[in-house]
Amino acid sequence: MGFLDYAPAPESTSVLNLQKDYGLFIGGEFVDGHGSAFATVSPSTEEVIATVAEATEADVDKAVAAARKAYDKTWSRMSGSERGKYLFRIARILQERARELAVAETLDNGKPIRETRDVDIPLVAAWFFYYAGWADKLEYAGAGPNPKALGVAAQIIPWNFPLLMLAWKIAPALAAGNTVVLKPAETTPLTALLFAEICQQADLPAGVVNIVTGAGATGASLVAHPDINKVAFTGSTPVGRKIAQTLAGSSTKVTLELGGKGANIIFDDAAIDQAIEGVVSGIFFNQGHVCCAGSRLLVQENIHDDVVSRLQRRLSTLRLGDPLDKNTDIGAVNSKAQLARITELANSGDEEGANRWSAACEIPAKGFWFPPTVFTDVHTSHRIAREEIFGPVLSVMTFRTPDEAVAKANNTPYGLSAGIWTEKASRMLAIADKLRAGVIWANTFNKFDPASPFGGYKESGYGREGGRHGLFPYLESSDWTKGGR
Ligand code: NAD
Repeated sequence: MGFLDYAPAPESTSVLNLQKDYGLFIGGEFVDGHGSAFATVSPSTEEVIATVAEATEADVDKAVAAARKAYDKTWSRMSGSERGKYLFRIARILQERARELAVAETLDNGKPIRETRDVDIPLVAAWFFYYAGWADKLEYAGAGPNPKALGVAAQIIPWNFPLLMLAWKIAPALAAGNTVVLKPAETTPLTALLFAEICQQADLPAGVVNIVTGAGATGASLVAHPDINKVAFTGSTPVGRKIAQTLAGSSTKVTLELGGKGANIIFDDAAIDQAIEGVVSGIFFNQGHVCCAGSRLLVQENIHDDVVSRLQRRLSTLRLGDPLDKNTDIGAVNSKAQLARITELANSGDEEGANRWSAACEIPAKGFWFPPTVFTDVHTSHRIAREEIFGPVLSVMTFRTPDEAVAKANNTPYGLSAGIWTEKASRMLAIADKLRAGVIWANTFNKFDPASPFGGYKESGYGREGGRHGLFPYLESSDWTKGGR
């Protein structure tokens, strides 16, 4: 065993108590779906974890009816402090079952246990605790006097942070007094189904939370349902656009959290080693399946070579492999389709003349994997500089002046996140002011907190999640700028 080899330290799956087949969660019960059941697969082994029901249009209709009934008969009649008690109870159960949820998420998604254990699940609980506290204080949120819930919220989430995206959606919706029908992504439904069990365990009134599983068609029938008051979507820009088209002209409120192509800007006065850590967490955290990833690195020209060589040295120490191993830094890509997309975009980088470097790592025989990769000599016109890769691939470009850094950072159809690395606070503030991105980190990256609003500009969507701003999309308001359309 070499100096930096680690013995395997796999997390045990014995904490899991999974069913072989899962139904839909409607009206507080697991019921059969009427579509074609599908398998959810572990991306690191390609083994089937469980079979999951597909909700048809008629199933979606039942779920919406259950949510409407729960809204009219129970949830809207309950005081904020009563609603808050349920949210606090859910938050505590999430903490109690944290290890089980972390293992289930890692199994279903492919991300390292270190991340689900230390980031995803603690944030999920924090989100519920945070919004539980708002449930009886809505009049102080800044949404106007006597704020009212909207009714039934339809919520659709992606596969990159399955349970965390569920928490971002369900916690504020329930705190504001709405009931929900949520559709998890087809490749990662498992933790949403475990969350349904937690709703039962918390004695949440039947129908307040409903979970319908399925793919795009199920999502489309949910969005088009005539009896919903609100759509909250997190996912790709093309699907977000379709949803906006479906809802154009209707009174349904919409928030869209879409893709990104975040710029991480390093000035020559930055603490370089600290910046390297931020770049690594910015694009290699969660295999780069992060909407706000710092996927474009803008380095001041005079430090380019130093930054790139330190980055390559650091990336060579990352361990890729079994996501359940506590030593693993880079897990599996979530699906075969996503791996194909990453591969195709990386190949376009080669074809368009950029220089590829990948960390030398052993790729397991089974599963979907992509090594940490850095492209240098990238031009702003290259596809790898413009399109969201949603994988562990970094595109490095240079700049000479602060104005050039800003111009290059803003040269994207997206506007979700950015990072600034400099010693000078005045420069940080001046640059942040000029960047067209919803979230800007300075001397750090990918930090999340339930009290902080998150959301995009331009093709990254509209509306904010998190903080008191995250309540507005779920409350009636005469001011449309408060929370989406
Ligand atoms: P996707 O748009 O393909 O799917 C997202 C969800 O929408 C899934 O549940 C899917 O089943 C559903 N869906 C697909 N077609 C639909 C339709 N026609 N109508 C309704 N629902 C439909 O995205 P994905 O590949 O699962 O996720 C990756 C994308 O999500 C990336 O672009 C990423 O940037 C984005 N994302 C954004 C944020 C954010 O907060 N801005 C957070 C996480 C991920």
